[in-house]
Amino acid sequence: MELDRVVEPKPVIINQHRAREEMIALAKEGVKTFEELPIRLEFNPLFRQDGSINLAFTQEEFDEIRKNVRLQNSLGVKTELLEPHEIKELIPPINEEKILGGAFIPTDGIPNPYAVLFGHVNALTKMGVEIRPFTKAKKIKVKNEEAKGVTTKNSDINAPIIINAAGGFAGEIAKTAGVKIPIQPMKREVLVTEMLKPSIDPAIISAHRNFYLAQMLRGEFACGSTVTKDGDPTLDSSLEFLRWISRTIVELIPQFAYVKIKRQWAGVIGVTPDKRPIIGGVNGVEGLYLACGLGG
Ligand SMILES: Cc1cc2nc3c(=O)[nH]c(=O)nc-3n(C[C@H](O)[C@H](O)[C@H](O)COP(=O)(O)OP(=O)(O)OC[C@H]3O[C@@H](n4cnc5c(N)ncnc54)[C@H](O)[C@@H]3O)c2cc1C
Repeated sequence: MELDRVVEPKPVIINQHRAREEMIALAKEGVKTFEELPIRLEFNPLFRQDGSINLAFTQEEFDEIRKNVRLQNSLGVKTELLEPHEIKELIPPINEEKILGGAFIPTDGIPNPYAVLFGHVNALTKMGVEIRPFTKAKKIKVKNEEAKGVTTKNSDINAPIIINAAGGFAGEIAKTAGVKIPIQPMKREVLVTEMLKPSIDPAIISAHRNFYLAQMLRGEFACGSTVTKDGDPTLDSSLEFLRWISRTIVELIPQFAYVKIKRQWAGVIGVTPDKRPIIGGVNGVEGLYLACGLGG
């Protein structure tokens, strides 16, 4: 995969539909962070908290969602279990015959990815941080088991602390410091529809069927897959994804059969074997930290 092509901020549903304790805690903290961003960044990330619904299509999926709801509630996330008719009230165009129920988290939401990006750029610049866009770190310099800096195409940057937050490419750059981390770059695809009038407030997710659908601020719907494609060396959009996501969404919300698709693209996430992130210092390389594997 070529890093140079990874430029598009990813559509983000900030959601807490997680099944494991530590991931629920992390997601809950994520929501709190987004709520505090306007004050912390002095910039509005346009975080719209209309909630999100994780749908169940089979009894087995519903049983698992019910179990997760209990765990989420015990950890302070106010998830509600919903019957199909209650989901229909929240999402009127949904074909309720297709669903057995779902879990609704009212505090979940959708920020504007560009506003989040530029808000951080502004705040960091004000703090005196120098940002070098489109600058690929080629090597992490290590001497006597201490991180010394990074080498880029045109420069040599010295620093006593290096944080490897390179997403799907974290493993590749870690290798240059002699550090092996079990992280794989995997492709994920998404498409965006034409702009429509506001019609669906909560984001729709199926953790089991691996897709999501959310109306963005400008009225476009982002429809994506959470399936990661192993071994695909390109970032090309695929016809396979276009067919699958279109069929899946139209079955759930028949009116989408008349909606035009504007564009489609793919991005990269970093996945670890147990789908848990890797966060913390590296044994044996003083000053080198990892913050990666967040795509699981
Ligand atoms: C299409 C798509 C849709 C998604 N939708 C959602 C969603 O709705 N909700 C959700 O929670 N998650 C979503 N995700 C997953 C989410 O984007 C990731 O979990 C998240 O971005 C991980 O953050 P990160 O900072 O670890 O990595 P990234 O956001 O991938 O950031 C890594 C950065 O490091 C840079 N980089 C890599 N190598 C180098 C190098 N050698 N030198 C310099 N820079 C480097 C990359 O260019 C990139 O900017 C989606 C992912 C994709 C691809």
